[in-house]
Amino acid sequence: MTDVLTATDSGLINSNVASNGPTLTDFVGRARAGQAFDGRTDLIGLSREELTEILSSLGESKFRVKQVWNWIYNRGVTSIDGMSNISKKLRERLEQDYYIGRPVLTADQKSEDDTHKWLMRFNDGNEAETVYIPDRNEDRGAVCVSSQVGCTLTCRFCHTGTQLLVRNLTPGEIISQFMVARDSYGEWPTPANGIRRLSNIVMMGMGEPLFNYENVRTALKIAMDGEGISISRRRITLSTSGVVPEIVRAGEELGVGLAISLHAPDDDLRNELMPINKKYPLKELMAACRNYPGISNSRPITMEYVMLRGINDQPEHARALAKLVQGVHCKFNLIPFNKWPGSDYECTPTSGIKKFAATLNENGYEAPIRWPRGRDILAACGQLKSESQRLRKSRACAREAEETDASPAISAAE
Ligand code: SF4
Repeated sequence: MTDVLTATDSGLINSNVASNGPTLTDFVGRARAGQAFDGRTDLIGLSREELTEILSSLGESKFRVKQVWNWIYNRGVTSIDGMSNISKKLRERLEQDYYIGRPVLTADQKSEDDTHKWLMRFNDGNEAETVYIPDRNEDRGAVCVSSQVGCTLTCRFCHTGTQLLVRNLTPGEIISQFMVARDSYGEWPTPANGIRRLSNIVMMGMGEPLFNYENVRTALKIAMDGEGISISRRRITLSTSGVVPEIVRAGEELGVGLAISLHAPDDDLRNELMPINKKYPLKELMAACRNYPGISNSRPITMEYVMLRGINDQPEHARALAKLVQGVHCKFNLIPFNKWPGSDYECTPTSGIKKFAATLNENGYEAPIRWPRGRDILAACGQLKSESQRLRKSRACAREAEETDASPAISAAE
């Protein structure tokens, strides 16, 4: 029994489908195409060009495209029927083939430090997590968005990386994570004065965004569109483990900020911590960073560096890092390791992290320490989906146990 087929409590997916009904492959295929289980297409996630094509095929003008776009992305309407200045006839026509959806929220947790995490279920039953991290000092914050269900990479310090890749998220599934966050804080319509609580997007959730680049690009273009969600490219950061061929392309086509999951100063150590380094070694990665369009004094690349006790946290590592990044306009972000069950690593003690930061500072690099947020709800770096997947597995085990008349002790786990 798979999690996908047993995810029936939303009512969207039923494992008891008739033998001549839709199969799991149908559901997955539809989800990939942004379609609901009834075959209609979600308007959320279509590019402006695609929306224009649909409306002009119905004989509508460009002005109508603006109106529909405004309803969806500026006002956050959740049904076609809610577009009150569009004629009833057109609304009814659109509803035959399209809908405006949101993923189903299957968990909604707030941390003691106000970090907010949502588990969202998509049409095929797959789930991804999204986190809002409020700024400590100002009334704004970043929404950390997932790009894949699971991850193909196996960075050794990352709990998310222990969950195999299930599939890429569609543009609609990516942008709707941000829209659900906005629903949660009532931040519709898009604030016209630029002051907003959900002010930034960071593509740092589950998955490697550059392995799903086309869909991420469509979603981020929607986010940046000035007549809709309207988040400036300066407030969007894309984080990658180092998919070199796509880095410069992302800079040219999107111009958003770049963060690199670096975590080691040399190839030997990085090969061990991040196997992707064997494919794209540090020399190539640094060359891509040097050529990244749009970096400036006010917009350096962020080098993410997880602090692993006795592994990558010695002063010589800091000095080697400073040498490695010469010529790349960057700063470091030091991340205390979040321990998870089964991991061999420990976090560097605070004094060691501060010393490491000081060595980088002495070598001319900013190196703030990113103190973990949302640890009590497992929303910190590298923890996404782990707990929710564990719970779903225990629910699936319990269901199997019930079906096979297994021990009440296992059923009680539910
Ligand atoms: S750090 Fe990012 S790329 Fe690496 S395994 Fe975790 S989610 Fe995947």
